[in-house]
Amino acid sequence: MPIVRVALDIPLSTLFDYTVAEGIAVAAGQRVIVPFGRRQMVGVVMECVAATEMAPERIKPVTQVLCDSAPLSAELFDLLRFCSDYYRYPIGQTVLSALPTRLRSDKPVISRVTLSYRLSASGAALDLDAPPRDGGAEPSGAGGAAERLLPQSAGYASNVSQPFPKRKVVQRRILAKLAEQPCNLAQLKSLSATVGAQLKALVAEGWAESFLETHSSEGSPFDTSGRTATSVQKHTFDNAHMLTGEQQQAVDTVTQTSSYACFLLHGITGSGKTEVYVHLMHHVLQRGGQVLLLVPEINLTPQLEHYFRSRFPDVNLISLHSGLSEGERLHNWQQAQAGVAQIVLGTRLAVFAELPRLALIIVDEEHDSSFKQQDGLRYSARDVAIFRANQRGVPIVLGSATPSLESYHNAQSGRYRMLRLTGRALAEARLPAVRCININQTVMHHGISENLLREIGLRIARREQSLLFINRRGYAPVLMCTGCGWLSGCKHCAGKMVLHLNDKRLRCHHCGYQLHVPHACPSCGNADLHPVGSGTQRVENVLQERFPEARILRVDRDSTRNKRAWQTMREQIHANEVDILVGTQMLAKGHDFPALTLVGVLNPDSALYSSDFRAAEKLFAQLAQVAGRAGRADKPGEVIIQTAFPDHPLFLALQTHDFEGWAASQLAERQMAGFPPFVYQAMLRAEGKQETGVYAFLNQARAAAVALQFAVEILGVVPAALPRRANHIRAQLLIQGAKRKDLQQFLRAWQPLLDALPAQKLRWSLDIDPLEF
Ligand SMILES: [Zn+2]
Ligand SMILES: [Zn+2]
Repeated sequence: MPIVRVALDIPLSTLFDYTVAEGIAVAAGQRVIVPFGRRQMVGVVMECVAATEMAPERIKPVTQVLCDSAPLSAELFDLLRFCSDYYRYPIGQTVLSALPTRLRSDKPVISRVTLSYRLSASGAALDLDAPPRDGGAEPSGAGGAAERLLPQSAGYASNVSQPFPKRKVVQRRILAKLAEQPCNLAQLKSLSATVGAQLKALVAEGWAESFLETHSSEGSPFDTSGRTATSVQKHTFDNAHMLTGEQQQAVDTVTQTSSYACFLLHGITGSGKTEVYVHLMHHVLQRGGQVLLLVPEINLTPQLEHYFRSRFPDVNLISLHSGLSEGERLHNWQQAQAGVAQIVLGTRLAVFAELPRLALIIVDEEHDSSFKQQDGLRYSARDVAIFRANQRGVPIVLGSATPSLESYHNAQSGRYRMLRLTGRALAEARLPAVRCININQTVMHHGISENLLREIGLRIARREQSLLFINRRGYAPVLMCTGCGWLSGCKHCAGKMVLHLNDKRLRCHHCGYQLHVPHACPSCGNADLHPVGSGTQRVENVLQERFPEARILRVDRDSTRNKRAWQTMREQIHANEVDILVGTQMLAKGHDFPALTLVGVLNPDSALYSSDFRAAEKLFAQLAQVAGRAGRADKPGEVIIQTAFPDHPLFLALQTHDFEGWAASQLAERQMAGFPPFVYQAMLRAEGKQETGVYAFLNQARAAAVALQFAVEILGVVPAALPRRANHIRAQLLIQGAKRKDLQQFLRAWQPLLDALPAQKLRWSLDIDPLEF
């Protein structure tokens, strides 16, 4: 009897063997339902083999073979096997976590096969606005019949645009909408209650035509015949922008590459990296390839989607991110798998999409830490994307204004190829002037300096926008008693409770615990409690008092909890209905606000003396990015940084827009100190309610590591940066290797020993190439 080896969502680093009844066809990559313990589980067949080491009486048969979705490819398996091995995560959980939720459920997938509608060739030739000939009557008699015949003659015969009867209001609206883009019935529903009947009439007349969104001839949503059928694509390309010399050179260099190569596209903010992406995509699409574009922020996907759709109006572009409904995500995933989706735009999970015709990968804002997953399979989507490009033999472009030091180092040492964009795409847009204000030598109003307030006043008078950037939400980061020095600590964590004045609460941002603001000090009874420091809400209040007429908008996680809120805010900003923006890093990323000419940075100093060796790198990237928001159109921008250390090299480098110099000094420091990218790291983390248990586990793990005698450096067991969270004690152990290979060999030997350690009542995890300390 044939045996299948099945990946299951079980935390064991093994596959599970099952038999298959005679006569049932099953292939690698298919999903199956199998008995596991008392449960029935969904798994993926990784291999079909002839024999098993399991005793015949113990092996169970597969319950059901699911044929509702195309099998996963061997190529995807290779990628997932690599991830499982590299990130030390069980193979079954790796495979299952890469799938859309619907494919992980044991219920058969019911695919939506939706009909879409578009204009026919003759429909496209209609003139919807022109006054009709013959006085506005509907075509009738001989003339009308002739016109009605026209569509059947494929429309090419007539280049003369015909007027459409004015009376048919709903039909006109439908045609106008379809002229913008193909739509399905649901998307047209808002036009009229009778839209179904009217659409039918338009199809019958030959003005519109229906087509299957999935391009599938048999109505099967996972037909892969699209791979060959669409090998050469013609698409409309809005080539509205002239490339600069540097942009053209970048495009040429990448398009001349037909095999694997990793490019670092280092372009200052406003230098037009996106335009380079557009031209690279155009090149790939013309040749029938698929493009995978990874972006860090789910918030950025709708506007990017809209932008790329406007540049490639008839290209099938889909998005993949966790904000989609389960049905949408499955549908889009299957479009990518069938080779029908030509551009796949997504957040980190999209790196695992099946892409049979993948020809180019782009990772935008490659330095962004959101590409790293912080739980479960702790992968870096950027690094997996590089492996994938290599596996597939296609080029990959990493884009950033402030590359990660890892990527920058690789580009300098020749592992990656550097592409530079040093000028802004719009000649009249200059880089903003950056200056520092010493907070110890100036008048401050609740954390905002008088100079900055004056500059904001000037912008309001000129009807320009200002942005105040502060990386703390809430009113104040802590509440203090002036009598005894009591601070609002969280009783479950080692952190402080943040004051939120809007609803008079203290909230812990680590565990979510909240309290009403006390009327008196819980420690000494003193009623004089003071907020210490500033958050977004406090800055908003100060500005309201100073500029009562100004329209102030606060953008942080609290004000954008509602799904549509951020979208609405962006529209307000673009319509110049806002004078001052106050926000956290949400505002720093990738948004283009043409009326914004002043950026004030409040309180960035904590990162300068952080224990995290990456804090300065992150701060530089964040400030360069937020500074890049100022003065993108024809108005020059200005950035004011409030700091107690105006002479710090980081701020000097920002003022001179000198990423190269800054990166060189940082890399030299890292090399001296023995930090990445000059070493490779793995972090073992443990947490549990009992301090002794957590430390005993880590100390045993350390002893086991030392006894292995590999060429790696084993550091001491230390408390985590937040040593207690939600009543759990947290500690960690760092391992470093001078070579990636050394570290990987060590981890392969170490992990089975960790699995064998007693670990009651605690959770532990391995994090390879950790970003958070
Ligand atoms: Zn007190
Ligand atoms: Zn807490």
